[in-house]
Amino acid sequence: MSHKILVVEDSRAFRNYLEQQLTQAGYHVYLAESVAEAKQVLASESGFVCTVLDYCLPDGQDGEIIDIVLEHGYKVILLTAMFNEDIREQVLSKGVLDYILKDSQASVSYILPLISRIINNRHHKALVVDDSAMVRKHIVQLLEHQYIQTVIANDGEEALQVLRECPGITFVITDHDMPVKDGISMIQEIRAQYDKNQLAILGLSGSNDRTMTARFLKAGANDFLYKPFNQEEFYCRVHQLLDIKEANNQLYRLANQDALTGLWNRRFLFSQACGGCSSRHIAMMDIDHFKRVNDTYGHDGGDAVLVTVSNILKIYFKEDVVARFGGEEFCIQSCSSFEDFTTRLEQVRTRIAKTPINHNGSDISVTISMGATNSEATLDEQIKIADTRLYQAKESGRNQLIYS
Ligand code: GH3
Ligand code: MG
Ligand code: MG
Repeated sequence: MSHKILVVEDSRAFRNYLEQQLTQAGYHVYLAESVAEAKQVLASESGFVCTVLDYCLPDGQDGEIIDIVLEHGYKVILLTAMFNEDIREQVLSKGVLDYILKDSQASVSYILPLISRIINNRHHKALVVDDSAMVRKHIVQLLEHQYIQTVIANDGEEALQVLRECPGITFVITDHDMPVKDGISMIQEIRAQYDKNQLAILGLSGSNDRTMTARFLKAGANDFLYKPFNQEEFYCRVHQLLDIKEANNQLYRLANQDALTGLWNRRFLFSQACGGCSSRHIAMMDIDHFKRVNDTYGHDGGDAVLVTVSNILKIYFKEDVVARFGGEEFCIQSCSSFEDFTTRLEQVRTRIAKTPINHNGSDISVTISMGATNSEATLDEQIKIADTRLYQAKESGRNQLIYS
């Protein structure tokens, strides 16, 4: 389902340009060219993720549209033809997300990344660490205003505890001078566990000490800002932090995931250490006579089989590492009990054999052969053992699991 955006703008050229850009980016755009028309849209439609409003409209030349839209509880990005310090102050204090000067193509191209930033913000949760309740409240308000979820802590020690206990925190905003544990010591402890991509940190300080920036960054903060800060600068820093974090995560996925099936790839399997676990089990599996599937149903049919088999593996091995090892070969690494592991392998094998895969009207039936091991050895050695057993399974008639 695409996100809905309301655009209220009386200039036809500008309206068309925005509509074209936003539609192309996948949004569902609703247009109005006056306050009256906007009211009609607001009465008949709901659920706008964001609105883009022109300050000056023929039937409301002093930003009247802003209050109307804010009263409906929607976020506002304001377009204005001329910069005016009083208007800027006035609209920002009302709670407008941002204002954009309609002076160039470049300023308009700022709207698109801003909207996608606001939408992606819902996936982020900030831990706000400051001993001043007033500062915490201010920062929480700024973040929540842009849909970022928040949790708070009074000092560095409490923050470390919240981090351990509260799932889903994606970044930390922290003060330095705090009782019990200061911000910089806290960051050093966080960095022993999480790197800059796993958990981004924005440092803040009201100190006059000009070495603060370097101290924060050297301790492992991603960025730093002196207090008091202006609201726009704060948002720019947070947006930049989150943009970089998302881009890095995306890069990580591209490097470690298989594009067709969404499973981990071979590179991931070998790069991730099985943290001190003494009972790692490995299974190697290979689809039987897969070449025939391709020959009979085409490469598309083969791909459909790979996707379905992968989805079944994801269901049965949620807690384990499932990797596409090569063409139609998969490798699973599990730390559950070996009995439970081989039981699930058997279940998957029978399920695959019983599940005809529909492709372009044909039912494609496949089976899979498996070899597994619980021997205590290096990953390479375990893979070799499991692979030998997989080969035995093939030799013994396929569609079977051999694990001893
Ligand atoms: P066996 O039962 O002995 O495993 O026989 P097989 O036909 O499954 O094995 P073989 O290794 O001879 O053939 C594997 C085929 O898988 C050959 C290759 O073209 C095909 N293949 C590899 N990757 C892909 C892919 O991503 N998509 C499709 N459709 N086919 C692939
Ligand atoms: Mg095969
Ligand atoms: Mg093969």
